[in-house]
Amino acid sequence: NQKVVLITGCSSGIGLALAVRIAKDEKKRFMVYATMRNLAKGEALVEAAGKTLGRTLEIKQLDVCNEESIKACVDSLPDRRVDILISNAGMGLIGPIECQTIDEMRNVMDTNFFGLIRLLKELLPDMKRRKKGHIVVISSVMGIQGILFNDVYAASKFACEGFCESLAVQALRFNLNITLIEPGPVITEFERKVYEEGVKIDLSKADKVTADMFTNIYMKNYGQIFESLGQTPEDVAEHTHKIITMDNPPFRHQTNTLYTPMTTLKYADPEGDLPIDTFYKMVFEHDKVFNASLNFLKLLRWRSRKSFSLEKEEKKS
Ligand code: NAD
Repeated sequence: NQKVVLITGCSSGIGLALAVRIAKDEKKRFMVYATMRNLAKGEALVEAAGKTLGRTLEIKQLDVCNEESIKACVDSLPDRRVDILISNAGMGLIGPIECQTIDEMRNVMDTNFFGLIRLLKELLPDMKRRKKGHIVVISSVMGIQGILFNDVYAASKFACEGFCESLAVQALRFNLNITLIEPGPVITEFERKVYEEGVKIDLSKADKVTADMFTNIYMKNYGQIFESLGQTPEDVAEHTHKIITMDNPPFRHQTNTLYTPMTTLKYADPEGDLPIDTFYKMVFEHDKVFNASLNFLKLLRWRSRKSFSLEKEEKKS
């Protein structure tokens, strides 16, 4: 009675951590098909999967930008059955839009948004017929709130959120669950790749103020944000594991409590100015506010770690 879990983008980061965590479920409740675009990049997963490989975990090829590859992967599964889809594959893009080509932007939408749609076009009819299934989307806090110089990436995650909100009502009619997982910054390859691309951007197409804002404010603070707020992919995997074992999983789940004060601002002001003004102050009104916020966040992180370890201690005793 194992549930079949299909995960995309498992060669690194959150996808890899998810595949391993779910395959190592204490009660062996899941059979995981960990998929990746390029099987040659499977080494890290093979190593992390250990003894679960060939037992509760199998690796398969799947490119979310290629319909045939999705179909071939699903066709290769027993009865084409997927009980839980975890749409995780994704990519980032930072910088001023003046310096990005439409092709680069299209690639982000194609992977992050149409990738999800392609998966669902293949899997939703079967799930509806069986009246059983859970669609889990690794979205982001940027799926509910835009961030400076992440314009198109945030748009791609907003697209996923709008799409899922619309689909959720129909899904309910078929007894299907949808969950959007919304991590804040996570320390993965993603962060490094996006940063390295950011450094390479030809800023000559942007005006001086914009270029300066990107280099001296955004890029300068990039590492520090991940350092002070960043979660591990294993932590996100732990949250997601909990979500897929729930009887009534929530529609949205934020994995980083340090970030919730920011997203709460959005819901606190229907006119939408509060989060924008707050971000503006954090970024521009001087480093002092920014540093003060970072220090505050570090304190929170220390405290939450402390209470987390206390919780663990309590459970042990
Ligand atoms: P990552 O770069 O380590 O993982 C992304 C994975 O997606 C990679 O393995 C990559 O090869 C794969 N991928 C890209 N295009 C693909 C395609 N066409 N077909 C199949 N696989 C493809 O980064 P990550 O942080 O683990 O990202 C995973 C998900 O988490 C993404 O959707 C990302 O948007 C989301 N996310 C990341 C962060 C963060 O800060 N790292 C925060 C919130 C949400």
